[in-house]
Amino acid sequence: MDFRLTARQKELKDSARGLTDFIMKYELDCEENNGLPAQAHHEIRDAVLASGLQAVNMPAEWGGAGLTILEQAIVQEELGRLTGALWDTVWRPANALRFCTPEQRERYLVPVIRGRRRDCYAVTERDAGSDPQAIATTAARTQDGWVLNGEKWFVTVGDHADFMIVLAAAGEEGAPTLFLVDKETPGIEMTRVPRFMHTFVYEHPEFTFTDVRVGDDAVLGGVGNGYDITRSWFTEERLMIAARTTGAAERALELARDWAVERRQFGSPIADFQLVQGMLADCAVDIAVNRAYTHQVAWE
Ligand SMILES: Cc1cc2nc3c(=O)[nH]c(=O)nc-3n(C[C@H](O)[C@H](O)[C@H](O)COP(=O)(O)OP(=O)(O)OC[C@H]3O[C@@H](n4cnc5c(N)ncnc54)[C@H](O)[C@@H]3O)c2cc1C
Repeated sequence: MDFRLTARQKELKDSARGLTDFIMKYELDCEENNGLPAQAHHEIRDAVLASGLQAVNMPAEWGGAGLTILEQAIVQEELGRLTGALWDTVWRPANALRFCTPEQRERYLVPVIRGRRRDCYAVTERDAGSDPQAIATTAARTQDGWVLNGEKWFVTVGDHADFMIVLAAAGEEGAPTLFLVDKETPGIEMTRVPRFMHTFVYEHPEFTFTDVRVGDDAVLGGVGNGYDITRSWFTEERLMIAARTTGAAERALELARDWAVERRQFGSPIADFQLVQGMLADCAVDIAVNRAYTHQVAWE
């Protein structure tokens, strides 16, 4: 078995590192101001497009980078070095958008891939967290479409996005269904922007939907397919989180190692003390194990 990166994987890793290093200069601003000004977002967007790492999970024929899951994990690992969740400025559309009809693709997905629009995914509710089958948001049939009512929590990028992918129980049978909903549609209100323990370049707001009317063409992936599509979104999202945490841990270990070598106490660098060496070694082992496991899952 050969664990070395291929030439292609190495090239992707290097360009992801280059983009990461560029975005890193915005970290302090993001940390101190809990986000970035519009100008910074524009600069980062240009850098993302120049790197070719936009929409790594979307086919090249639609303008994405067209990477395999393992290649995406390699890119995400580098981006994970960024604090303030700045990796999220390197947009990766929800894989649910692969289910767009050709018309929906032109209206939603292609502009997202090109960095002109931004999606967010609204599944979670007060009483529907780990168990999305408990959602109370409904989509009632009208003559020419649907009317949505309900409330969604933890909608990451909801402040920045201009449209939402909303999971609702559709029709009298409550069929789990996804809807593409422009954020400016009347009846949508961003009710709360809760503070989190982390700094995140975007927010995770809460939204209410009051008699939000959408057409039949707003259904994404067919009536009744909302859970299956959402499950595959969670699978990809969680795997990429695993990859990013490996990059984050590696950067933390590098900083800790450098500090241990530089910092002197009791007349010698603290790196000379066996307990400190043991902690650094434990970190290195954890990172190696997590990387190997993430790569295995991505490959599978
Ligand atoms: C930073 C952040 C970003 C998010 N972004 C989004 C987003 O963009 N869109 C979106 O829709 N949602 C988002 N979420 C919501 C996220 O998906 C939910 O937090 C998650 O589904 C868990 O729901 P919950 O927080 O209500 O916890 P709960 O479901 O109430 O779980 C509480 C605890 O019980 C445990 N638990 C639950 N069920 C079981 C079980 N069967 N067996 C054992 N243990 C169990 C859980 O592991 C957890 O420890 C985000 C959350 C966070 C923290």
